[in-house]
Amino acid sequence: MKRLIFLFLIAAAAFGQDIHVLPVQGNIYMLVGAGGNIAASIGRDGILLVDAGTSQMSPKVLSTVLQLVTAVAASPGPNRCVGLHCPDSPYRWSSPSLNALIASPGPPKPIRYIINTSMDPDHTGGNEALSALPADSKILGVTFPPVGVAPTATVIAHENVLGRMSAETKGKPAVASGLWPTDTYRGSSYKLSEFFNGEGVQLFHDPAAHTDGDSMVYFRYSDVIAAGDILSTTSYPVIDLAKGGTIQGALDGLNHILDIAIPEFRSQGGTLVIPGHGRLCDTGDVANYRNMVAIIKDRVADSIKKGMTLQQVKASKPTLEYDGLYGATTGAWTTDMFVEAVYKSLSPKR
Ligand SMILES: [Zn+2]
Repeated sequence: MKRLIFLFLIAAAAFGQDIHVLPVQGNIYMLVGAGGNIAASIGRDGILLVDAGTSQMSPKVLSTVLQLVTAVAASPGPNRCVGLHCPDSPYRWSSPSLNALIASPGPPKPIRYIINTSMDPDHTGGNEALSALPADSKILGVTFPPVGVAPTATVIAHENVLGRMSAETKGKPAVASGLWPTDTYRGSSYKLSEFFNGEGVQLFHDPAAHTDGDSMVYFRYSDVIAAGDILSTTSYPVIDLAKGGTIQGALDGLNHILDIAIPEFRSQGGTLVIPGHGRLCDTGDVANYRNMVAIIKDRVADSIKKGMTLQQVKASKPTLEYDGLYGATTGAWTTDMFVEAVYKSLSPKR
């Protein structure tokens, strides 16, 4: 009975959570509340997701993105032409709203791509449920998959993600095969082979940052970067030593974002950056976070040079003035764990 009540509470918590949608710019929307943040490219080619959230939230993520894509496909574009010679002349019989009615756009296409920024379950848990739309299922009155579209989405990640997910111990893979990426890349970058929703999509591998399989995704026309877990506005960067993460790699990754991003004016606006967790960022936000990581790294490196032990470094509180923003004493990634990861990552012999 106790167990039943417990299960009920879990279910209630899952149902109570909602997905919040923030239109970022261009084709890109930020979905918050499914574990890690999800970046969604929504348009006439369908849906591309960067990260898939947790498996429990998949039904809500799916209904949210399908509502978005239906709304985007059905809405008429603005009429920017004025005068008799315009194709949509306000002086003739057509109008943007009338055109939308008579053009009767085809049904929106489903999720075509999922890109994983790392192998963490709050970023890959929805891979299976979101990529495998059952044939002929009717969602929001639309038949899936539409003619000419593959029935499942392509799930793309760096090959180290697949390597770690499929690594076997006693004949069992680390993660069930349904959650594995279907396509991987190696090397420092990868491009989708054709435009998606009218723009190029680039992946960059940031080696040895949060893990050894981190990708960040750059939408070249919308000018949005999905950074994954090297950037968070709610915690210190998660350096997963066991999965190949290092503090230097995390710092390099943040500098990599700043290489690509161009502010609109004095480090504000312009290229927008979706972090793995937390709120939407611009160049200034990323630079502040990068500075924080660099300062803490230098402090710990100096302490190691002086021969200080891990306990002594922790006692010296190298993160103190940032703890109000990023620190935590409980939870999955505490300040203590961060300092320890930085220390071990910088120590000559680990
Ligand atoms: Zn995460």
